[in-house]
Amino acid sequence: MIKAPVSNDLFLRAQNSIPGGVNSPVRAFRAVGGNPRFIVSAKGPYMYDEDDNRYTDFINSWGPMILGHAAEVVQEAVQQAIPNSLSFGAPTRKEIEIAELIVSMVPSIEKVRMVNSGTEATMSAIRVARGFTGRDKIIKFEGCYHGHGDSFLISAGSGAITLGVPDSPGVTKGTANDTLTAPYNNLDAVKTLVDAKKGQIAAIILEPVAGNMGLVTPAEGFLQNLRALCDKEGIVLIFDEVMTGFRLAPGGAQELYGVTPDMSTLGKIIGGGMPVGAYGGKREIMEYVAPAGPVYQAGTLSGNPIAMSAGMAMLTYLKEHPEVYTQLRNTTDKLVSGMEQNMQQLGLNFTVNQIGSMFSIFFTQQAVTDFDSAKTSNTAFFGRYFNAMLDRGIYLAPSQYEALFVSTAIGEEQVSQYIQANLESLKEAQ
Ligand code: PLP
Repeated sequence: MIKAPVSNDLFLRAQNSIPGGVNSPVRAFRAVGGNPRFIVSAKGPYMYDEDDNRYTDFINSWGPMILGHAAEVVQEAVQQAIPNSLSFGAPTRKEIEIAELIVSMVPSIEKVRMVNSGTEATMSAIRVARGFTGRDKIIKFEGCYHGHGDSFLISAGSGAITLGVPDSPGVTKGTANDTLTAPYNNLDAVKTLVDAKKGQIAAIILEPVAGNMGLVTPAEGFLQNLRALCDKEGIVLIFDEVMTGFRLAPGGAQELYGVTPDMSTLGKIIGGGMPVGAYGGKREIMEYVAPAGPVYQAGTLSGNPIAMSAGMAMLTYLKEHPEVYTQLRNTTDKLVSGMEQNMQQLGLNFTVNQIGSMFSIFFTQQAVTDFDSAKTSNTAFFGRYFNAMLDRGIYLAPSQYEALFVSTAIGEEQVSQYIQANLESLKEAQ
């Protein structure tokens, strides 16, 4: 049992000056009970907290640290950039180099604009899609998360064509009315929406592999069919690859599935751990972005030289080392088959979803293919399992509805530790 008295004290103190004690809600461990750990440092597969506890990390900062923590190639690039000043607010050679690199890696991107987060990327992408098409409405999928922009904090109404209602106070009805939602993997529901709002849909945005309801993969033909529908109806297809970009393949899910959207949004890995996002796509669409075109979007710190140096180092490494993806998949295959053997041994029949280095365990016997099936998972069981794993030094995402990420720093030793902890934690959680 890992004790964390210093973290507990810090969490109490944090709540006096920070809403809920954290700067992003899921970090607070509300969904699983217990207090978050306050982290001091991390290296390779491990993170260390204020109480000197060590955790093997399967979140990796929610995805960015695909090479493990403090990867030398990224750290060195940042260290080299720092003496030249932290920000200029003026163009740099590095911005061209990273744009060219992204264009060379991501199939859909002919031109790209750098921003500071995934949220900024998705907010900007739909504005551009609206400007380009002259239409107002967008379609998103239940259980897909695209950051905290107003247009995306919308849940579905009862029928497929019911207008959305805001998921969060502060989102206006007007905004919610322009976001329609469909169940993931349900092409018919999308077609119904498109027919009902003929000529009004600017964009369909989705995570091509969903990671924000736990991991859910696209059904066979789903992405291809959306592509065909968007072509037919003049709708901009946007893949939100903030999570999957540079993770499932150098060119993301669109490379893996061979489906090219009109626009893509990126984040996480693209900054190597620094706050970076990007959106890009077809030349004729991106020409609408100011100052080339009329759609306004800007940023004081966009293209920040330190962040670009980290991102450049990370992306260059991934482009030059495609073997990383085989290594990551092999490691994750071992983790998943170990979990499956454990479940067999205990006579449990839960669902594990995996693709490449992303996976989720759902405490349900149903196949998980959309948000409704994801919600059949026993979240109380998840909470007990999460805490049992944490007690064994395994750091998982503190919510059922998140994907786990494997880094290249996870080797045989960490795989064995994980599988053993999984066996014990499944037993303890029952
Ligand atoms: N889109 C997806 C698919 C995400 O997973 C996230 C964050 O987890 C975002 C957008 C928002 O990115 P950020 O947290 O950098 O604003």
